[in-house]
Amino acid sequence: MAYVHCHNCDWQQDDFWDVSFNPLRFLLNDEETLLDFKHLDDLGCEEGSADGFWTEGKTRREVVAHNCELAAQKIREMVFLTPEQAKGKPCPQCGEYALDID
Ligand SMILES: [Zn+2]
Repeated sequence: MAYVHCHNCDWQQDDFWDVSFNPLRFLLNDEETLLDFKHLDDLGCEEGSADGFWTEGKTRREVVAHNCELAAQKIREMVFLTPEQAKGKPCPQCGEYALDID
């Protein structure tokens, strides 16, 4: 369980404050390839980010920075720290009881 979303609107939260699924793990998923310093400033690296941020014409350094910004945004906007906190709660956006955890 790493994702809670609403069936009534487009609200969603990816990750929780959990050992397995969290914004820090998201950053470490591509650690080996993204931190290849020999090619840090090469243009057009093939690694991307979870939100579809495309890398053509961007350096690996820019992709790493973008992924860090995404993780910071997730931390700031996290409504439910655990899946248990989301169970039986209304959607933070529309107020309907239509949340689902996948
Ligand atoms: Zn909703």
